[in-house]
Amino acid sequence: MSEIPLHWLDDVEVRFLQPYQAVKAYLCPHCNRDIAAGTGHVVVVPREAPDLRRHWHRGCWQLEDRRRAARSGNTGRRR
Ligand SMILES: [Zn+2]
Repeated sequence: MSEIPLHWLDDVEVRFLQPYQAVKAYLCPHCNRDIAAGTGHVVVVPREAPDLRRHWHRGCWQLEDRRRAARSGNTGRRR
């Protein structure tokens, strides 16, 4: 469980949750703070490992997304 191929986590599907869809609190893996219920946020789902999906603050994911794009040598947004 601890050994996750990195490319799994790079190929992700990003979903935006509206406040009314956020029915419970989650822990953001970027800042380790709660995402309160009722807060619009982002769900990041690795395509190869849907069980490993994570909930992020929007701002936190934007930072991470930018970092990933830079790492892959891609300056544009990937879809
Ligand atoms: Zn966060």
